[in-house]
Amino acid sequence: MAEPKTADLMDKIVSLCKRRGFIFQSSEIYGGINGFWDYGPLGVELRKNIRDCWWNDMVRRRDDVVGLESSIIMHPKVWEASGHVGGFTDPMVDCKVSKQRFRADQIFFSAVVVDGKTVGYVTVLESERIAEELQEKAETFKRKKAIQGKLEPVQPRDFTEAKSEEIPLIPSPATGEPGSLTPPRAFNMMFETYVGALRDESAVAYLRPETAQGMFVDFKAILDTGRVKVPFGIAQVGKSFRNEITPRNFIFRSREFEQMEMEYFIADDDDWAKWHRYWIDWCREWLVSVGIPASSLSEYNHPKEKLAFYSKGTTDLMFKYPFGVQELWGIAARGDYDLTQHSKASGQPMEYFDDVKKKRYVPHVIEPAVGVDRILLAILCSAYCEDQAPDEKGKMETRTVLKLHPRIAPIKVAVFPLLKNKPELVKKALEVRDLLRPYMTVFYDEAGAIGRRYRRQDEAGTPFGVTIDFDTLGEKGPELADTVTLRERDTMKQERIKISELVPKLIEKVR
Ligand code: ATP
Repeated sequence: MAEPKTADLMDKIVSLCKRRGFIFQSSEIYGGINGFWDYGPLGVELRKNIRDCWWNDMVRRRDDVVGLESSIIMHPKVWEASGHVGGFTDPMVDCKVSKQRFRADQIFFSAVVVDGKTVGYVTVLESERIAEELQEKAETFKRKKAIQGKLEPVQPRDFTEAKSEEIPLIPSPATGEPGSLTPPRAFNMMFETYVGALRDESAVAYLRPETAQGMFVDFKAILDTGRVKVPFGIAQVGKSFRNEITPRNFIFRSREFEQMEMEYFIADDDDWAKWHRYWIDWCREWLVSVGIPASSLSEYNHPKEKLAFYSKGTTDLMFKYPFGVQELWGIAARGDYDLTQHSKASGQPMEYFDDVKKKRYVPHVIEPAVGVDRILLAILCSAYCEDQAPDEKGKMETRTVLKLHPRIAPIKVAVFPLLKNKPELVKKALEVRDLLRPYMTVFYDEAGAIGRRYRRQDEAGTPFGVTIDFDTLGEKGPELADTVTLRERDTMKQERIKISELVPKLIEKVR
């Protein structure tokens, strides 16, 4: 089976998403708006299924996690206390000639050193082959300038590490020429807005850049409901907004995206490392349960020196996207920092009274935080396949198939009458559709040759197809009457089964 896990995989996925109605560029008829995406009929179902699976597994099937839906715009003091107003920044660099804007930590450069002497600089943007690309550029640089001597291996650094005297010498990724890049400066990624009729400083508010603060701010309110005892978690799914300097890689980095976050509160003297490990493993297993192969996941432990001062440890679950291994899910042990900050800033105690230990303390927290859109992209990348299948005349052709896990597939089953101009077949097929509909998403399709209808569903990731033919009507004898063919997407195998067996059989497979 050919799996195009190559550089063009992203192009194929983007094109499939557009063609089949998974994802469109937002406001496309006006030329689009960078960093914003719309989910079409299939995308919206896929997204909802991901969210629902997470919610069921994270909240409904557990005794120790409760849900929350907090508002997107909160009191601006929330974001001062959390550190976002002061510190939620990315280092930004402008190219004065091209007017393009970059994130400094995504520009990589190296000195070109020949016989121990720096003769110039080369630049590339972040990619999977930073060192190789820089080396190639350094070789070209030396050749073009006809410099004699031994070229030393490049030493990649990102632009935040550039010394001030180096900045004018580093070529812009946009023009290839030095002299136009500005020094990096902090750019706050929060979207600002105004609340109420006045448009002055006192009315400034922010679209939330993460959902997590809702859980901290409402911690007391949830505690007071009396339903929870440490250790327990508060989970939320919702939109977050970040004015990313360089949104890119399709839906991987957007300016409006959806997060699924959970704050798990533990006792101040509990073993945080044990809980951290527990949640890393939980997240990994959950990703596998929605169809992401364990082999494409890895763990990245943030080095101690790069952690925020309050952080005890952060591990990212990384996914092998076609554009490189990137963060999918971050699992952070944040100590008691967030609750303490809000307690100080609001003057409200954020303590928990442990009636077994008879003591009061501020709980510590483990935070698994993930983006729905990044999971959706990882799922699409894992599911995309091309194989060979016979066409109408038996000739082999390339088939595009999304091998989505039945749990999250947008449509669970497609129902086809063999021919659309035979009213008895159509009537029976509609009956089968109506029989299945209360239990799962069903798509009825009577247009075109049956093989083409199968292909359309293969591309949509529909795991099962049910075909109603003349045998169903009993034309070949009573033993086949009221039976249908059930086709399985991945193997393309077909079996004959009784209509009365369809519901239990399919429910077992899609739940
Ligand atoms: P990155 O380093 O990729 O910018 P981050 O470390 O800032 O991500 P967090 O603040 O930990 O991300 O957010 C938690 C999760 O939210 C991420 O693991 C990711 O899945 C998702 N996420 C963050 N920023 C974006 C974005 N701009 N677009 C889509 N998803 C995002």
